[in-house]
Parts: sequence; C-alpha cells; structure tokens
Amino acid sequence: VRHLVIVLGDQLNADSASFDGFDNDRDLVLMIEADEESTHVWSTKPRIAVFLAAMRHFRDALRDNGRRVSYRALEESPEGGSLSQGLAEAIAEHSPERLIVVHPGEYRVLHALRTQAGKLGVPLDVRADRHFLSTPEEFAEHASGRKQLRMEYFYREMRKRHGVLMEDGEPAGGDWNYDKENRGSFSKRGPRDLPAPHRFRADKVTKQVLELVNDRFGQHPGELDTFDWPVTAKEAKVALRDFIKHRLSDFGEYQDAMWTDEPWLYHSRISAAMNLKLLDPRDAIGAAVQAYESGDAPLNSVEGFVRQILGWREYVRGVYWMHMPEYLNRNALHARAPLPDFYWTGETDMQCLRQAIGQTLRHGYAHHIQRLMVTGLYALLLGVDPKQVHEWYLAVYVDAVEWVELPNSLGMSQYADGGVMASKPYIASGKYIKRMSNYCQGCRFNPDVAVGEDACPFTTLYWDFLDRHQEKLSGNNRMRMQLKNLERKSSDELKEIRRQAEQLKGAVES
Ligand code: FAD
Ligand code: SF4
Repeated sequence: VRHLVIVLGDQLNADSASFDGFDNDRDLVLMIEADEESTHVWSTKPRIAVFLAAMRHFRDALRDNGRRVSYRALEESPEGGSLSQGLAEAIAEHSPERLIVVHPGEYRVLHALRTQAGKLGVPLDVRADRHFLSTPEEFAEHASGRKQLRMEYFYREMRKRHGVLMEDGEPAGGDWNYDKENRGSFSKRGPRDLPAPHRFRADKVTKQVLELVNDRFGQHPGELDTFDWPVTAKEAKVALRDFIKHRLSDFGEYQDAMWTDEPWLYHSRISAAMNLKLLDPRDAIGAAVQAYESGDAPLNSVEGFVRQILGWREYVRGVYWMHMPEYLNRNALHARAPLPDFYWTGETDMQCLRQAIGQTLRHGYAHHIQRLMVTGLYALLLGVDPKQVHEWYLAVYVDAVEWVELPNSLGMSQYADGGVMASKPYIASGKYIKRMSNYCQGCRFNPDVAVGEDACPFTTLYWDFLDRHQEKLSGNNRMRMQLKNLERKSSDELKEIRRQAEQLKGAVES
C-alpha cells in the first residue's frame, strides 16, 4: 500500500483533505473502532452509538464510491483495544509507505498517532481540516497582541471575512449582535404548538450498532430506546432543513429558555452531525441566511444561530489549540470537590438538575443553557474539580468532541481557565432558573430562599460562592453588582449560608 489514510470517527466528510490525491488502486482507508474511545471517559450509550453508526455508514458510502477500506469493527477486536494498537496492526498488515490523517479534533489522539507512527518508523502526514471556516493559525494571529480575547471581536472579523449577514460593509440590520432579543422565556402556558423535530429511524446498520452498544457497553450510562440522531450526510441535511423550516424563526427569542419535559424546544440538534463532519457549517450558515433574506425568519434568530456557528464554534476551537495541552490542567478557582454521583443517574430532588441530566442520559442531549446554567452552574457553585466536570461533559453528549467540549466546560462553565473563555464566572442563583423555566414549580425547593429547609441549593451555593471568592473577584468590574449585593447580607445571614453550604458540600463528599 502506498498511502494508509486514517479516518477518525469525527472525520466523516468525503471531501476532506484525506482524500486529496487518493488513488483507488494504491491507497487504502483505515477506520478503527476502539474500545478506548468509549471508555477513556465513561461515555453514554447514545454517544457511543452515534459515533459507531455514523462511522459504519461512512465506510459503506466510501466503498460504494470505489474506495478500499480496512475497517476494524469492535466485534472483531479484543476488548480494551486502542487506536494505537489498531494502527500498529494495520501497519504490520499493509506496510504503507506513508500515513495520512486530517488534523484530529483531540490533542490526545494527535499525540498518540504521532507517537505510534514515530515508533514504527512510518512518516505521518497531518493535513489541515477544511471543515472549519478558520484555522488555528488565523486564530493565533487574531489573538496575538490582545491582552484579553473576546468572542465578539473574533466573530465580527469572521462576519467580514466571509461576508455573512453583511450589507454594504455594515452588519445586516445595523447591529452586530441581537443578544438582547435572545433571552425570552415562555409565559405560564409554556411553549405552544412546538414543532416536533424530524426523527431518524434506525436502519439495519444502525440497529446492529444499537445491539452492539447494549451488549458491549451495557454498564455505561444512558439509554438507546429513543435513539433518533442523523448518522449520514443525507440525514444531516434533512435535520438542517427541518430546523430551518420549523424552528429557526423562534430559535432566537427562546434560545435561553427551558421547559419541563421539552428537551429540544427550538434548537437545531445539528451539533453531533456537524462535529462528526457529516454536515458542513457553511451549509448551516447559508441556509439560515437564506431564510432571513427570503423573509422566512427574523434577524434576531438568524444572527443568533450564525453567531453560534461562525462565532462560538470557531472561537472555541481556536482557544483549544492555542492552549493545549496545559489547558486541561487549569483550575483557577482551586476547586477540588468530587462530581456528585447523581450526575450519572439524574436521581436528585432538584428538579432542574433532574430534568437536564435525565434528558442527557436519555438522548445524549441538553441545550446550551441547560449545560451552562444548570449542570455547569451547579458544579461551579459546589466547587467541583474542573477535570471531573470536563470528563463528564465529554462522556455524556452525542456532540462531545474535546476541541469544542473542553473550552465550553472547563473554560466557559467552570471559569477554571481564569477568564480566557469568559470575562467573569457565569454564576446565578436559583432565581435565574426560575425566570428561564418552569422547573421550580415542580421542585420541593424555593429559589428565592437561601437558608432553611426549603432553601434552593443553587441559591445557597450562589451566595457562598461569592463569599468564598470575594477577594479574587473584587478586581473584576463585571462582578461589582453581584458583590455589592453580597455586602448587603448581614453577618448572621452569611454565617447561616456558609453552614448550609457546608452541609450541601458534605453530602457530596460523604
Ligand atoms: P443550537 O442551540 O441549535 O446551536 C446551533 C449550533 O451552534 C450548534 O449545533 C453548535 O454547533 C453551535 N454552538 C452553539 N453554542 C456553541 C458553543 N458554546 N460552542 C461551540 N459551538 C456552539 N457543543 C458541542 O458541539 N460539543 C460539546 O461537547 C459541547 N459541550 C458543551 C459543554 C458545556 C458545559 C456548554 C456550556 C456547552 C457545550 N457545547 C458543546 C455548546 C452547546 O451547548 C451545543 O453546541 C448545543 O447545545 C448543541 O445543540 P444544538 O445543535 O441543538 O445547538
Ligand atoms: Fe432548581 Fe432550585 Fe428551582 Fe429547584 S428551586 S428547580 S433546585 S433552581
């Protein structure tokens, strides 16, 4: 074999740089299913199934297009196998002159491939990932000379560079950002006539994967009964169209809202398809912009959606590659508590957490505010070790790939990077959750109360967090209001709050 082209589980685009110059006669694609990828963090069943089902469909599509593929399925590999091991075996079998891979999305994998190729003496060609609209080098250039990075400035550059939502050199509608119009919540009646997202039925290949996952990873958390994720490029396009047609218009206003037993609301559900590279972000951005131009969706929704993909998604990737590998060990707030066990079961009296974790285990999905302001917020307020928080997020979501998960969890949600991702910790009391959802109505706690039997743990821990980190946060202008409110608390009240907070923390550690 001339070139052995390694295609990883999150590199499932047929027009990627992997296939530049691919010779069907002399080159061979290598795809490996390795246990280690599902066990190095304790992945949920939906996450494992999405990756395996998408990989197997991609293998079949490649073969249909005449590519030769060496595919190492889990059934044929020993338990506990790793990518490096699979690679070594494939090299022994095919004696390639050269290995080709598109830049992996995880530092660990890049390192493992380089190490193994070096050890076995086969040159490894790492090619740029064309899926993204910016490169890590462009990001480093954007960052150089800036004391503090802000997504907003990067996003504006991207809008200009790619001519997205620009009119005569100015942002469409006159403003760069319609964030203020993206914070609505539902009235008491909740979301009305919510359009159910398109469901994708499991075909033969996917059914086999679901069986395999139940068999081989039966002890892992999560369920597969409702599995309906898009797992091919064609399905990903259908998912995108379904969102644009039925949910994009209301996406903007209700982007941050939450509602009991409504896991999807107006979200797109395309993150997994995009991160596996089944869907090109240009198509997602293009379809949303077209809906705006044809008058089918309002600007606050379209701009909000574009900002997530052209802004946040590209930005977090830049942060990841700029700061890895040391980013993984950051712990700016010296948080050391263990992650509560209920994160793996959803069994807690706190209704907001029960809802967010429950749907996470059921579907491998929660939307951004559930991740940031429910599960993330509780871990932050409790002082959980950010590495454990990161490992949980990487394990549970169908869209979890480290380049996007780590800056969001360790950085944005836990403030463990000391302000690279966010200019201040995202903290709030239970009152925020009360405003943005109906969770508190079905909860035995009271979000307005910080001490006593009814006290909402979020609210107790919110004041305790401010109290504990007062000194560190006092230099941050954006924290001034919150710290001022803390000063209004009497010393007796603070003493009670500290005592109750200690009980909550003790309950986790015991
Ligand atoms: P929508 O709400 O419809 O948004 C559209 C798209 O915008 C998403 O598909 C996604 O590609 C992109 N996007 C939105 N927010 C972000 C963001 N903050 N960073 C990067 N892209 C964004 N996203 C992942 O793709 N993988 C992860 O592992 C992941 N982990 C997260 C962990 C935490 C703690 C937090 C707070 C956020 C995380 N996110 C992650 C970002 C976001 O929550 C998900 O992208 C989103 O919920 C996916 O659902 P959706 O496709 O319905 O998105
Ligand atoms: Fe969550 Fe507190 Fe509201 Fe209960 S009262 S749902 S714990 S915010």
